[in-house]
Order: sequence, then structure tokens, then C-alpha cells
Amino acid sequence: MTKTVAVLAGDGIGPEIMAEAVKVLETLRASFGLKVTLENALVGGAAIDATGNPLPAETLALAKRADALLLAAVGGPKWEPLEMAQRPEKGLLGLRSELGLFANLRPATLFPELANASTLKPEVVENLDILIVRELTGDIYFGQPRGVRVLENGERQGFNTMLYSESEIERIARVAFESAAKRQGRLCSVDKANVLESTELWREVVTRVGKEYPNVKLTHMYVDNAAMQLVRNPKQFDVMVTGNLFGDILSDLASQLTGSIGMLPSASLDSNNKGMYEPIHGSAPDIAGKQLANPLAMILSVAMMLRYSLKEEKLAVLVEEAVAQVLRDGLRTADIKGDNDTVVKTREMGDAVVAVLRSKL
Ligand code: NAD
Repeated sequence: MTKTVAVLAGDGIGPEIMAEAVKVLETLRASFGLKVTLENALVGGAAIDATGNPLPAETLALAKRADALLLAAVGGPKWEPLEMAQRPEKGLLGLRSELGLFANLRPATLFPELANASTLKPEVVENLDILIVRELTGDIYFGQPRGVRVLENGERQGFNTMLYSESEIERIARVAFESAAKRQGRLCSVDKANVLESTELWREVVTRVGKEYPNVKLTHMYVDNAAMQLVRNPKQFDVMVTGNLFGDILSDLASQLTGSIGMLPSASLDSNNKGMYEPIHGSAPDIAGKQLANPLAMILSVAMMLRYSLKEEKLAVLVEEAVAQVLRDGLRTADIKGDNDTVVKTREMGDAVVAVLRSKL
């Protein structure tokens, strides 16, 4: 059956890197039997400029109808003066909450060719392969009440509420246990159970769910220690699961261990594995329109989409191997270049991935 993929290029470098991802998908469709229809829609700043709304109704309708969503990035200085509720990022948050994308999967994988791109010593990060599973629709980012109030003495006070219900913890725990079962079978749950009641409940529920997965070895770690251990000895981790706030911070930290924001994809899934796939980086306005962006995180997001939502594991591996091959061939965009590397443009990198794919025919 032909599946529908919503293609949301967004802002800044978005259209440039999306063009390369689409080339990859078109190649898989033309030559490898992938049955997909690609439908473009506006989101973020581009949607504001065209319709006044960062998430137009047509885009939301397509997002709901599609089998998977591919998104590049949204935002940029042009829209920063707008009120918070009108900004491009609201388009992204709206998609996550409207589609119930509660599970954010962020692999931090180091391609051997890029070991020198990390700020850590190569022996600390060589062969690094961590998966961070972050809960995406709960926690202090969504908890009510929230705001800034004026106290009796006239001083202002900001407040937010950290909330997790058992069902929210249970469903993200299951995604993490299932992921760990398919990898090395180790899951580290990260919390602050010594101080925060909501994460005390988190630990209790994760432990309970863990009893259903006897093949996965579950450990627990406080978030402060986890941040330290990720820098000290990141290879001790296989899969990590944590809440929205801690996951936001730890997944950025873990991504930087690989040294290159332009290399890392992510998936945000609902309970049926419908997902939105996007690079972890933003719209990089500083390099937009110059063909300087690295399209590999976007192309690796296509691989994740093939794996999780389109159930095309072989094609996912094919794309990942093609990316590894272009790196072995010495191609580098500016963000991942070493001292003696020649730099290629966004388009050349995409063309090289397509050429490797074609060579596998
Ligand atoms: P950013 O990730 O866009 O850029 C940070 C740095 O990394 C910049 O120097 C940029 O040039 C570089 N970079 C990012 N992606 C790259 C790539 N593919 N190739 C080469 N270099 C790359 O983060 P920022 O500068 O903090 O934010 C810029 C805009 O993006 C803001 O409007 C922000 O709100 C938005 N943003 C969007 C998302 C998203 O759409 N998911 C995520 C983060 C930030």
C-alpha cells in the first residue's frame, strides 16, 4: 500500500536540506520499490508569511492524514519580534501535541570517521551508540498552573508545575524497554527521585513496567549524576529514558558528544509508531541560503522514518550505510571538516548519498 509522507521544509536551511532528503526518497521510490507519496505543506515562519498562522489548518489536516511526517526546521530572527503564541516554534509544538507524539527518540551515534569531531578524546567516544528516549508531551513544560504572579509584598514570582501521571510514565517506559530489548538490552532510567515526588513516582512505575521485560537490565540514575557520567564514560549507556525537562538537556549533551549537530536525526512517535522525523538542529539562519548546511541529519531522519513508521528496515539500513560510505569517501560539509578535508556543499553531499544508493542497484 502506498504511504503518505508529509514534507515540511520550514525555514532557514530547512528547504536546502529537505531537497536532499527528498532526492533520497525519490531514488528509493524510483529504484528500490518504496511506495510513498510525498505531499508538501507549510509550517513555521514560512507558514506565518503565507497565512499568518505557524500551523495552518491544511498542514494540520495533512499531518493527521499522513503516515509519517518529515520536518526540517522552523524559526529565525525575522519572526522573533512576534508574540510567543504566534512564533514559528508554535507550529512544531502544535504538531507534537495535536498528534500525541509523546516519545522522542534521539540516537547519539558516532560515525568512526568523525571521532575527531568530538570535543572529547576519541577513545571516550569511539563507537558511541546511545539512544535517549525522552517523554515529550508532559512534565513541567505543560504542567498547570504556570505563570508569573505578584506576591503580597509586590515582588513578582515565576512558577511552573512538574506533573507526571502513571499512564504517561508507563507508556514512555514501554517504548524505552522495547527499544532496549532490540539493542543491547540495557536501560537506564534517569530521575531526581531523592528530591522530586513526581520523579519518585516515575522510578516506581518504571520499575513496575520493567518486571514485564526480564531480558532488559534496568538501572536508575539521578539526573545530576547522569549528566556527569555522559561526559565521563558515555559508552556505559545503551538506552536512557527520562522525562521532558531532563531529556531536553541530556539529549543535547549527548548529541554534542558526537561533535556534530548536523549529523543527528530524531523521531517523535505516537502510540501507533506514527512519527515526525527531524534533525535535532534548528534552522541555522546564520548559514541559510548558502548551501553550507550539512544535510546528513535530515537524510538520517529519512532512515529513522523508514525504520519506525514505514517498516522498511532494509531501506533504512541502506540509507545509513550510504551515509557512512560518503563519510568514508572523505566528503565533509563545513561543520564536520577536519584540518585537511575538502568541503562540499549541501547539494553535493546529497548527490553523493544518492550516487552510493544507485551503486547498490
Ligand atoms: P541551530 O541548531 O539552528 O544552530 C546552531 C549552530 O549550529 C549554528 O551555528 C548553525 O549554523 C549550526 N548548524 C545547525 N544545523 C546545521 C547543519 N545542518 N549544518 C551545519 N551547521 C549547522 O540553533 P539556533 O541558532 O539556536 O537556532 C536558530 C533558529 O532555529 C531559532 O529560531 C530556533 O528557535 C530554531 N530552532 C528550531 C528547532 C526545530 O525546528 N526543531 C530546533 C532548535 C532551534
